[in-house]
Amino acid sequence: MSLLKLSDVHVSYGGIKAVKGISLHVDAGELVTLIGANGAGKTTTLKAIVGLLRPAEGHIEYDGRDMAGTPSHAIASRGLVLVPEGRGVFPALTIEENLQMGAYTRRDKAGIAEDIERMFNWFPRLKERARQTAGTMSGGEQQMLAISRALMARPKLLLLDEPSMGLAPIMVQKIFEVVRDVAKSGMTILLIEQNARLALQISQRAYVMDGGLITLEGESQSLLSNPKVREAYLGEG
Ligand code: ATP
Repeated sequence: MSLLKLSDVHVSYGGIKAVKGISLHVDAGELVTLIGANGAGKTTTLKAIVGLLRPAEGHIEYDGRDMAGTPSHAIASRGLVLVPEGRGVFPALTIEENLQMGAYTRRDKAGIAEDIERMFNWFPRLKERARQTAGTMSGGEQQMLAISRALMARPKLLLLDEPSMGLAPIMVQKIFEVVRDVAKSGMTILLIEQNARLALQISQRAYVMDGGLITLEGESQSLLSNPKVREAYLGEG
């Protein structure tokens, strides 16, 4: 059974149709990517999944239940956690405090302390700076923190909205390695990206979105060699 399943989802902003009937699914343990150009409707789709926007039509099913009408805070406590575009760390709080905030739905103090150590082992850069305020860190470090903070909630499904956005190329590589490693640890991930090449390289399956519709889908490896994808999204041909 799929952990997340969208069936014919439509989302509008007033009269503007941003998502025009899309269907997709993410199974437990998969790393699935949704790629597409600016304005394709990717972020709108994510916002509908986490309950920030209500679909005009269609169904969103998560963990076997219809999501319609579920408030955003309740969605997070059911294990669906979004790392938003632009990261959303608390700039005035230290790295350690940000990680603590990520665990706000949990009551197991010992488990939380253990997970903070796990994040520090995973990202030594965060450990070195545990008492530094998040706002003083580089963009790449903030993205690592944003992902770690989300993992502190022990999500069942992690949604990442363009984690590579605005980062220097070397940091982009690093962030994709991090996402790949998190996926290898067994986490289920839906990754939204404009960097199609890297997103296809680390994911198992992919959906291509254009003009509010899914125009292509399949195994990431086969999309990487698809002439249409190469021409439109990989800058070749
Ligand atoms: P990007 O990579 O630039 O974030 P995207 O694929 O995530 O692009 P969306 O942000 O989902 O695309 O936008 C899809 C369409 O919806 C665009 O045409 C956009 O202009 C429109 N849109 C997004 N947010 C709003 C809003 N709050 N009000 C009206 N239209 C909006």
